[in-house]
Amino acid sequence: MIEIGRLPDMAFVIAAICFIFSLSGLSQHETARRGNLFGIIGMSLAVVAALLKMGLDDSPAASAAHIDSGSILYTVGWILLPASLIVGTGVGVFLATRVEMTDMPQLVAILHSFVGLAAVLVGFNSHLDLSHHFSEMSVEATIHQVEVYLGVFIGALTFTGSIIAWGKLQGVIGSKPLMLPGRHVMNVVALLICLGLGIVFVRGGLNDWTIYPLLACTLIAFVIGAHLVMAIGGADMPVVVSMLNSYSGWAAAATGFMLNNDLLIVTGALVGSSGAILSYIMCRAMNRSFVSVILGGFGVESGTMASASGEDLTYQETSTLETAESLLNASEVIIVPGYGMAVAQAQHPVREITEILIANGTKVRFAIHPVAGRLPGHMNVLLAESRVPYDIVLEMDEINEDFPDTNVVLVIGANDIVNPGALDDPSSPIYQMPVLHAWESSEVVILKRSMATGYSGIDNPLFYKDNSLMLFGDAKASIDGILNELRNRLA
Ligand code: NDP
Repeated sequence: MIEIGRLPDMAFVIAAICFIFSLSGLSQHETARRGNLFGIIGMSLAVVAALLKMGLDDSPAASAAHIDSGSILYTVGWILLPASLIVGTGVGVFLATRVEMTDMPQLVAILHSFVGLAAVLVGFNSHLDLSHHFSEMSVEATIHQVEVYLGVFIGALTFTGSIIAWGKLQGVIGSKPLMLPGRHVMNVVALLICLGLGIVFVRGGLNDWTIYPLLACTLIAFVIGAHLVMAIGGADMPVVVSMLNSYSGWAAAATGFMLNNDLLIVTGALVGSSGAILSYIMCRAMNRSFVSVILGGFGVESGTMASASGEDLTYQETSTLETAESLLNASEVIIVPGYGMAVAQAQHPVREITEILIANGTKVRFAIHPVAGRLPGHMNVLLAESRVPYDIVLEMDEINEDFPDTNVVLVIGANDIVNPGALDDPSSPIYQMPVLHAWESSEVVILKRSMATGYSGIDNPLFYKDNSLMLFGDAKASIDGILNELRNRLA
């Protein structure tokens, strides 16, 4: 017979396994839905098991505060807990159903800030409660102090860093990096002060005054987090979001240690390490080093007008009719989607164009850059949503060599990811970032509204090449126009 008291721990193990299956499922289009389902099951199980565990211990959230089970506070605790669960679930469902795909990075960033804040609050609670767990300083008590300090430090840094990342992605704060004089020295000094405060805090043992070094560390970590992300601009934001994802995982793991909750430790470690791996992959995709991203200072405001060099560059324009004709005459077409396709929500008519061309005998494929759009996998999600078959959606490394054999490339609302300056202009801020070699095809049609720059705020020499044609307008309107021309021609 299984003891009832063991049930929550068993549920925690099953939930941890669900999270691992969830991560592995989410790594492929085909299994992403299943991965999501595993995540939902794991999280539901974790919440129920946590509540059950508290009930079985006869000590709800209030147990940590050592409240008598007959007291009014005990009852209030049990009312507040489900009430906050219901409110939290309601807000979560409301936000998830309303958020636009293009606003997803902001949502992710703000959610990371909650994890950071939770780690800070749990850390303070855990510290205030220390004397109830340890009557005198022991090795265990010292380890606990270190956990609290680290958890609060990482949590505080994640909290303000994520709020600034949210502000930058939302456009509330300018994306230009804030370059304070001596900022590296300031960061190092702040870190050293935190280290010193940590030593004072741990050595202070169970003394009441230890709350002060903890408070001071929290305030300094708030400033470090905000300052670090303020200094990061333009094209490095995706890496920052995934780095904050990693930090929030480590903050959750530290919270797990403080609360003695194995599932939180496992989940935090999964999030922490997968976020770190994703950051590494993105750094490689942008040819940036991890350290140079953290040090910041890269990228300017997006949406500025192009040709900052002052050169009188000329470009050629085309129409939906001419583009439709080119597509019908092509035997090989590659579509490069970017952020503008997401903003315009043009993915559905793009799929219809693809179907028409394939039916007409044209080989059509999609080329996906790892940082196209505004979050990792952004384009894959949009194309999957519009039911574009997975086998014609190729990653940059799989398709980059095929551009010279391609007749027409349709660049839909993409800019930085097809910028040849990244390869041949050492003065370009994105020099050596791997890009899609769209210009190597016979003809490139670029769909965008103006000559404005993309996210990293730099001009794109692709637009001025002899084989490039600009099709100005909202991507959805242009794609609808091409679709109508194709239908008319083939009717
Ligand atoms: P870019 O931001 O470089 O370019 C997008 C282009 O889309 C703009 O030049 C804009 O030109 C055009 N556009 C915007 N709205 C529309 C519309 N309604 N219709 C038609 N065109 C439109 O996007 P890319 O996808 O090429 O590159 C992604 C960039 O974002 C990279 O610099 C990357 O580092 C960064 N980034 C990526 C993240 C990720 O994880 N993927 C996260 C955060 C940033 P115009 O205004 O003239 O229309």
